Amino acid sequence: MKIICVGRNYKKHAEELNNEIPKEPVLFIKSDNSILQKRNPFFIPEFSNDVHFEVELIVKINKSGKHISEKFAHRYYDEIGLGIDFTARDLQNELKKKGLPWEKSKSFDGSCVVGKFINKDELGDLKNITFSLHKNEVRVQEGNSGHMLCDIDALIAYISKYFTLKIGDLIFTGTPEGVGKVENGDQLKGYIQDDLCFKVNIK
Ligand code: ZN
Repeated sequence: MKIICVGRNYKKHAEELNNEIPKEPVLFIKSDNSILQKRNPFFIPEFSNDVHFEVELIVKINKSGKHISEKFAHRYYDEIGLGIDFTARDLQNELKKKGLPWEKSKSFDGSCVVGKFINKDELGDLKNITFSLHKNEVRVQEGNSGHMLCDIDALIAYISKYFTLKIGDLIFTGTPEGVGKVENGDQLKGYIQDDLCFKVNIK
């Protein structure tokens, strides 16, 4: 399986990192080694002093497809979940400056938290899903799927032009504003609406 991530899919987040608002989605891949095993703590890697949390809605692909049209994209997923795209921001900035790929800062071991999935029928309007991240019981990020620059179905259409989507692939749909650094001892909790989707301790 692969994890396809979308960068800069929320205007205010692109602005907080001084990035341009993209004309089309920015894509990158996290590999399967990046998935943090359930209930394991996240260990801050020794190569970074500035690991950021990015809470994101996740789409789980349930059918194989290539060149999927936006109109039929809804047939390729039943479940939406929530996760974290941990990012070694210092390393990413260094790589960006040199024009190099981001993988070392984005796809390192444990950098991908995948929480609980919820059937999309239970979520109602997929263009109005609220989600949030709480650090040490304080809300630090809050997003709404309606604020995505490119919505879920348009993302599936765009991504599948380049990458065949397969059963079990995950799409991380981008983070809203409010990203920040994690420290040893922090606890992160992610919610879709009021539903707790994951809890991660930072070490
Ligand atoms: Zn992200």
